[in-house]
Amino acid sequence: MERKVFQLGDVVLMKKNHPCGSNEMEIIRMGMDIRIKCVGCKHSVLVPRAKFEKNMRKVLRSANHTGPVEHGLTPTDTEE
Ligand SMILES: [Zn+2]
Repeated sequence: MERKVFQLGDVVLMKKNHPCGSNEMEIIRMGMDIRIKCVGCKHSVLVPRAKFEKNMRKVLRSANHTGPVEHGLTPTDTEE
């Protein structure tokens, strides 16, 4: 079983689509709960960590470039 690794700033692929049709979410706050922002409509939601881990499929783009690189995407520069 693969451990899900994610961190602040990552864009993750969710199992369920958001009502707007996008299933990509950006992690904008981490703690006991995780705040994610829909890439499609910019709506943000707060979800318990356990629920988030259950609902996410994988990290699409990692904030610090250590995550899996897929689809030939060029990493963007991190902004402070
Ligand atoms: Zn949305």
